[in-house]
Amino acid sequence: MSLSESKSSVDLKTPLQFLKGVGPDRAKPLLRLKLHTAQDALFFFPRDYEDTTSVISIVDIEPDVLVSIKGIVEEVETRNTSVGGSICGVLIRDGQYHLRAIWFNQPYMAKRFSAGQSVMLSGRAKNRGLAWEMSHPRVKWLTQADESADVEILPIYRLTEGVKLADMRRVVAAAVEHCAALVPETLPDALRKSLGIVSIHQAIRDIHRPANQDALTQARYRFVFQELLVLQLALALQRYQSRQGRHAWPLPVDGRIDSRICRLFPFPLTAGQRQAIDQICTDMAQDVPMNRLLQGDVGSGKTVIAMYAMLLAVAHGCQASLMVPTEILCRQHVQTLRRALAHAKVTIAMLTGGMSGKERTDVLEAIRAGDVDLVVGTHALLQDSVEYARLGLVIVDEQHRFGVRQRAALRWSGPSPHYLVMTATPIPRTMAMTMFGDLDVSTMRDSPPGRQPVNTYVSNDDQRERWWDFFRRKLREGRQGYVVTPLVDASDDARLASLEQSFESLCNDELADFRVDLIHGRLGTQEKQAAMDAFRSGDTQVLVATSVVEVGVDIPNATLMTIENGERFGLAQLHQLRGRVGRGKYPGFVCVFSPADENGRDRLAAFAATNDGFELAETDFNLRGPGDLLGIKQHGLPPLRIADLRRDGKVLIEARTAAHAIIAKDPELRDAGMANLRRMVLARYEKVLELGEVG
Ligand code: ADP
Ligand code: MG
Repeated sequence: MSLSESKSSVDLKTPLQFLKGVGPDRAKPLLRLKLHTAQDALFFFPRDYEDTTSVISIVDIEPDVLVSIKGIVEEVETRNTSVGGSICGVLIRDGQYHLRAIWFNQPYMAKRFSAGQSVMLSGRAKNRGLAWEMSHPRVKWLTQADESADVEILPIYRLTEGVKLADMRRVVAAAVEHCAALVPETLPDALRKSLGIVSIHQAIRDIHRPANQDALTQARYRFVFQELLVLQLALALQRYQSRQGRHAWPLPVDGRIDSRICRLFPFPLTAGQRQAIDQICTDMAQDVPMNRLLQGDVGSGKTVIAMYAMLLAVAHGCQASLMVPTEILCRQHVQTLRRALAHAKVTIAMLTGGMSGKERTDVLEAIRAGDVDLVVGTHALLQDSVEYARLGLVIVDEQHRFGVRQRAALRWSGPSPHYLVMTATPIPRTMAMTMFGDLDVSTMRDSPPGRQPVNTYVSNDDQRERWWDFFRRKLREGRQGYVVTPLVDASDDARLASLEQSFESLCNDELADFRVDLIHGRLGTQEKQAAMDAFRSGDTQVLVATSVVEVGVDIPNATLMTIENGERFGLAQLHQLRGRVGRGKYPGFVCVFSPADENGRDRLAAFAATNDGFELAETDFNLRGPGDLLGIKQHGLPPLRIADLRRDGKVLIEARTAAHAIIAKDPELRDAGMANLRRMVLARYEKVLELGEVG
């Protein structure tokens, strides 16, 4: 076989062992990393780089920071340790400064060094009195040529047993050399040119072996952009489909309807509420379904907006359904609606999982017959047995609590209902564009007038006495309060026991003179309702609760909250909890207790520092480690592999703009130039985003 033949016989699907210089022994352990073919190796991107282009002098070393230094070997020694091991030490000199490199139990290392050699070491150094010490650094023995040609950026790959970094570099380099040129370009030329994006071949080469930082930046940019473009295309496609061929009843508003609805509210709308309502009305007047996300901080008054939209649907003879995550919230919404609509001819029904057979059948029948205008329910609304007579609008409240981006799968064969999701967990802009890229977003940044601030304290046990003194004083002034402890879930018997215990000790001690009650997720429906009703009416002064009160509960006279074990709550959850107080005309007071030595103190400090949910969302986003999938997974999307939304926000916006421009011209990605991108979109998102019809 001639050389040229052997070259052309390799393709992207060639098993790694057949690549020149690899062989079965090197290839076999790579299977553990799911590296089978040349293509797998090409797209096995480095997890980091060793940048020997930025060698520093020993004098500039900082402890525990990854650095590279160059120097001359002065001394090599091997010692045996008392426990039968060995230490090899190599002293390196750089000008007048010294560094000692050490290797434990690798006696052969000593043979690889000799005095006078020029070497480069990369690693993290520790300060050991007179000299720096680096244990197990990476070494490069420098030749004369190296010294003049200097330096390079070397890839560091994830490894597995039986695969050394040098092997991995060799395998990937072989794949790049023989196969990089075979990878088809995915991005249309025009797009690449307009954004100055390097070709796929160039990018693959440079992501593995960049000539300099700039080349690496360019290569990385390309892959980040591509990943985000594919995601944004998928979302844009979904958005297109959710409108395409979907017909909805146009439900326009007019002055008469508007004033009839607004009369039902005991207060004028805030500017933010008015703006959100206007946006919703514009959507609902169309004959394509609304798909809107309403973001508004806790207590900003989203319920009124939901009511407005529901009544608009009812004004046109349609039904509306409101889905909420908890029974408590469900019941609260029903009460709010009943109160507001006491004199209106609007019928309201509730549907929850806890309802008995007969009650349930009656409600279902009434919904089917069209005798019910508004349905408020929990997950139970998603069951097949729920059939509507004329469903015009679906609202999901506290969307974040449903976890997955569960589109209410409603059994309804008529025109598509308008769709509104509401969330009080503000998310950073870049996240919103990712998780809700298919929705239009309304954001409410103001809150109803006359709100008092909520004062937040983070304390440890030293402060307990003072806090409870204050708590009791406020209770005597007529206010009410919550004591919140971490969740009791169905399986956590120990936690439940300790909750009951701390309830008892509160009743006997700190709150002995007050009416205190307990509520948690394991109580039955009736018991929960009774507890909430007693608290709402003021019969109970203090409610000891798990985070079942986290979402939506609205009791304006409750102004106090003690949170125990604050370190166990996430930032968004703490903010939600805090949202339960300071909802009326009195200021709120929240005290979070957490052991002084707990980590998670950063989070608590951030929490105490601001009342602004939007600001907290940004902080939260930045406090999370890079390994955190940032809730994307929670929303049912596969994790991003290269892009990091904290760092790549700007690229995300570019990708989104590009995706929208592409879909506007070619809404189903049918152009020949789009074939590769289209394939990638489908491969990654077809199932999650239900892009079925495009496939
Ligand atoms: P959230 O946005 O957290 O769901 P709610 O809708 O429960 O907030 O509203 C919080 C409180 O603010 C409720 O007691 C509600 O009656 C009150 N509220 C809502 N809008 C206004 C307004 N425009 N003026 C005065 N109070 C309002
Ligand atoms: Mg709410």
